[in-house]
Amino acid sequence: MKVFKFGGASVKDAAGVRNVAEVLKHFALDDLVIVVSAMGKTTNALEEIVWAFSDGRGVGEKVDALERSHAAILAEVAPGDEEATRALGAHFEALRAMLHQRTTHVDRDYDRIVSQGELWSTLIVSAHLHHAGIPNMWIDARTIVRTDASHRSARVDWTTSEKRASTLLSEVSGNPKRIVTQGFIGFSSEGETTTLGREGSDFSAAIFAYLLDAESVTIWKDVPGMFNADPNRFPDTRLLSHISYREAIELSYFGASVIHPRTLQPLQKKNIPLYVRSFAELNAPGSTIDARSENDSLIPSFIVKPKQLLISITPRDLGFIVEENLSGIFSLFALRNVRIDLMQNSAVAFSVAVDDTPCSRQLIEELGSEYEVRYNDGCELLTVRHYDEATLERLTKGKEILIEQRSRVTARFVLK
Ligand code: ASP
Ligand code: MG
Repeated sequence: MKVFKFGGASVKDAAGVRNVAEVLKHFALDDLVIVVSAMGKTTNALEEIVWAFSDGRGVGEKVDALERSHAAILAEVAPGDEEATRALGAHFEALRAMLHQRTTHVDRDYDRIVSQGELWSTLIVSAHLHHAGIPNMWIDARTIVRTDASHRSARVDWTTSEKRASTLLSEVSGNPKRIVTQGFIGFSSEGETTTLGREGSDFSAAIFAYLLDAESVTIWKDVPGMFNADPNRFPDTRLLSHISYREAIELSYFGASVIHPRTLQPLQKKNIPLYVRSFAELNAPGSTIDARSENDSLIPSFIVKPKQLLISITPRDLGFIVEENLSGIFSLFALRNVRIDLMQNSAVAFSVAVDDTPCSRQLIEELGSEYEVRYNDGCELLTVRHYDEATLERLTKGKEILIEQRSRVTARFVLK
């Protein structure tokens, strides 16, 4: 069994959906689980609907627009498929019914509403595959991926999910087996839809691979693999053709957006290789990520996170930061869901770089009641793995270095 993941960009329109079938034709004999994200920017549009709904604003037009665009793609890729048309219509009716109820808890509403995007896209992909002569079974991921009830960033209950996955596999017919299912979504033991966090479909692909003991996962992207830097930002980037799980985790954690950072852990546990390949260039070799680490240090990789706030926190009584204050400060960050991208401390000051978001600004206000807080905005966070001096000089040239940290492998800078 192989697991394939197609992200939103790969199924953003009818041509994208057709291309999924083209890709599958190259794997005519393989059993496949095909994990699909919501089409294009659908998740963002659904988030807008959630915010409007929770503010009591009208959402009818937004829902209508989504229905029109999805129905048009379905009609194009699976003409005459009345069953699929009815099923898509039923999903939209169910969504409208949800939006007529009063809001319950905003994160719970979020998961029920935003998860629709993946249900629509998989229905369309599955219908098109049938139309293209590729029999497949559409599976609701919520019957397999059991999670806890932490809405919007649910944690997987591996034991229950594993049992459900093995039952599933024994029920799927077809030779080869073709399963089409959703990324990003799960179901809590309370019986409610959950989501795994934005961009979580890569993680879903890894979850399915882990549960089904798959031989590999392939993430089909609009770029031909993982690069040593963002090709949209830097000239002369180089393909990382073979790196280790550890290296890929570090790179994605530091902000390389090619794969979701949580994707690698389940794969590494079962030693399942991850391939990142281009859905547009099927002959390009792409990147392989597995346990082998010999090539990790061949090429310096660098990641820039823009729009960072550098916050410096000092106790008003000049108490020691680590011993007396750090745990309280950390709990506030956790409570406000602000992720720390880099930290540094002296005796009485703690500095952190975080994304500049309304939550971070709010946190600064709150910290201000107990601490003296200063901040610098418009910073960028540069991380260089396997650095050499020439690379560091080139990347920091002409910029003010506010913080510099180096380990043997990684150099990090807050720059302005
Ligand atoms: N559709 C979800 C999102 O846009 C999950 C994903 O695409 O990975 O965040
Ligand atoms: Mg995505």
